Amino acid sequence: MQKSFKVENRLGYRILRWILAVALVSGVIVSAIQVALDARRVSENLDNQAKQTIAMVKDAATQAVFSIDASLADQVIDGLFARDDVHLAQILHTNKEPLSSSTRPMVESAFSPLINFIFGKERRFRTELTRNGDSSTVYGYFVVHYDTVPAAHMWLSRAMVTLTSVVATAVILGMVLYFVFYMLLTRPLLRIVRSVKQVNPELPDDRLVATPAGHENDELGLWVSATNTLLVAIGESQKRHREAEDRVNRLARYDQLTGLLSRDSFMERLQTDIDESKRNNRMLAVIVCGIDDFKSINDQCGFRAGDFTLQTIADRLVNTLNGSRFTVARLGGDQFVIVEKGLKDGFQAADTAEAILAGVNETMVVENLSVALTATLGIALYPSDAIQPDRLLQSAEQTMMLAKQKGRDHFQFYVASIDQEIRDRKHLEKDLLDALALNQLHLVYQPQVNLETKRVIGAEALLRWEHPVRGLVPPDYFIPVAESNGSIVEIGQWVLEQACLQAKRWADKGLPLRIAVNLSAVQLHQDRIVDDILDTLQRHDIPAGRLELEVTETSFMTNLSDAVAKLHTLNQAGISIAVDDFGTGYSSLTYLKKMPVQHLKIDKQFIRDLLVNEEDTRITNTIIDLGKSLNLTVVAEGVETAEQEYYLTQRGCKLAQGYFFSKPLRTADFETFVQGFHQQTVENNA
Ligand code: C2E
Ligand code: MG
Ligand code: MG
Repeated sequence: MQKSFKVENRLGYRILRWILAVALVSGVIVSAIQVALDARRVSENLDNQAKQTIAMVKDAATQAVFSIDASLADQVIDGLFARDDVHLAQILHTNKEPLSSSTRPMVESAFSPLINFIFGKERRFRTELTRNGDSSTVYGYFVVHYDTVPAAHMWLSRAMVTLTSVVATAVILGMVLYFVFYMLLTRPLLRIVRSVKQVNPELPDDRLVATPAGHENDELGLWVSATNTLLVAIGESQKRHREAEDRVNRLARYDQLTGLLSRDSFMERLQTDIDESKRNNRMLAVIVCGIDDFKSINDQCGFRAGDFTLQTIADRLVNTLNGSRFTVARLGGDQFVIVEKGLKDGFQAADTAEAILAGVNETMVVENLSVALTATLGIALYPSDAIQPDRLLQSAEQTMMLAKQKGRDHFQFYVASIDQEIRDRKHLEKDLLDALALNQLHLVYQPQVNLETKRVIGAEALLRWEHPVRGLVPPDYFIPVAESNGSIVEIGQWVLEQACLQAKRWADKGLPLRIAVNLSAVQLHQDRIVDDILDTLQRHDIPAGRLELEVTETSFMTNLSDAVAKLHTLNQAGISIAVDDFGTGYSSLTYLKKMPVQHLKIDKQFIRDLLVNEEDTRITNTIIDLGKSLNLTVVAEGVETAEQEYYLTQRGCKLAQGYFFSKPLRTADFETFVQGFHQQTVENNA
């Protein structure tokens, strides 16, 4: 903001004041001298004129007094009064008796004191009247008094003119000089001030001071260019200072050898990552990585080789773990630390740990030797293991030390139970990848019964895994694992193939059953899923109406429009769609209207306590009514008792499946069951 300073402080005004003062004082002095000289001249004039006048009338006056001619004397006196400054005139006899005398009042003047002081009130002249050639005989006297005011008034008006013109000259000169000064100095100076104010103190050389137009070559231009040179020098010095500061910062923040974050700056970053995880309600893993037996490299190959090894490992860590989810730092010595944020569960951290181990394990050439290093990792999780950065790091470091005691080339989680669970699951994951190839998977079929006709109309294909050591692994346990590592895509396709193969066999045997196959969300989001399913049906020569796909509510919520489009295509091809475990998810009418759904499967948790728990009964009733109003067939899942079956039949539920009819069965058992069940229905009807 332009600082407004008082008018009297502006340079222009100060100059104006000085010029006025000097011009006035000098003008007044000069004019005073002029006026004084003029006064002296006026004063002399008064005397001279009086003397001339007296000289002119002296003879006539002498004649008058000599011949005692009063009329001549009066004429002389009257003649004198033609001048307006004569105040008194007398022609006197020697005895001082007047022959003729006349007076006139003095002229009044406001300046009388001044006039009296300079010129006197009046000028008096008295001369003896003598005849030519005989000055010894005096016939009388001639007296005349002059009033000084008329001459003084003339002098005063001249003095006024002189003074006024001096003041006017001073003012005009002052104004002109002020304007010139403003144009030449004040205005360009103000422009420079404005320009200086726009200089950024952070980057002084970014925008230099502009030279006012027309002043490039004068003192102002010189001043601006000197200022700019100074600004550039300051800017360069600031830049050097910043660079030095950056260098010092970098040295403090980064490890010199590897270029990774140092321990201190890592701790700051960890705090930020923890705050972010807290906001996003996500897990975070701190993985401390200790190189196994690093000391022997130093001992055998020297420190330079050791440094090279650490640099190589740092590079590998950075390349393996790229992306904003990861932070890699060197703790010192042969220890690194990795933070992974945005985790859904500990299993993701285990995947990262495996990737780190694989990265470290790749062979490298040190001093012409091929070396394959290993590492041991300790993992601590936020928020379950600790919530403060130092505690988390401490836990991970301790875990790494403990893990080293047990062996090398492996990872360990801080909490033993989690470590066990994750280890188990990792094993299971590995085993599952081989399960298909090793023929450990098979399908069982659970009959679906029409409650009105009491006939088996279809079967749900359910996957079983016979693990060589663990025995039968429940699908509720291994399906999520297959979903998380993506193997469900291959396994799901295998299930579909098997189910279609079986449907075809049963159809050929005169059992035209509809087969329901569970479709995982991961499968549904595959681009090729629609083609794969239709292709499989075609290959096995199965009418599309023979296949039902069971999807859960959660599986189409992630990308609703994509799921709707795919299910529409499948449905248009003739495949029916069932919503599995209905009532446990969102159960939203909006999507139910959008989805091409034909069947609602009431989840077995509501059927289990049907008639025992009021709320479950109410939910079951609601789903049945909803099905009726939306024209969807309702399937009750997990029917275990005759009471449940009776109630559901009465309430208008169309289909049911559950242990009350049969557990999921192998194909041969299934066929036997269907025959027996239908036999019984015929008997009951008869
Ligand atoms: P689901 O699709 O809801 O399957 C029904 C589950 O209820 C089956 O468990 C079945 O054995 C069980 N069940 C049937 N009747 C009764 C009953 O009367 N009482 C009780 N307590 N349970 C009964 P299962 O076979 O263990 O399958 C569990 C889940 O695994 C299935 O739930 C399904 O979500 C998934 N699953 C099974 N096979 C596959 C598959 O091939 N692909 C996919 N994606 N998921 C599958
Ligand atoms: Mg199902
Ligand atoms: Mg279900």
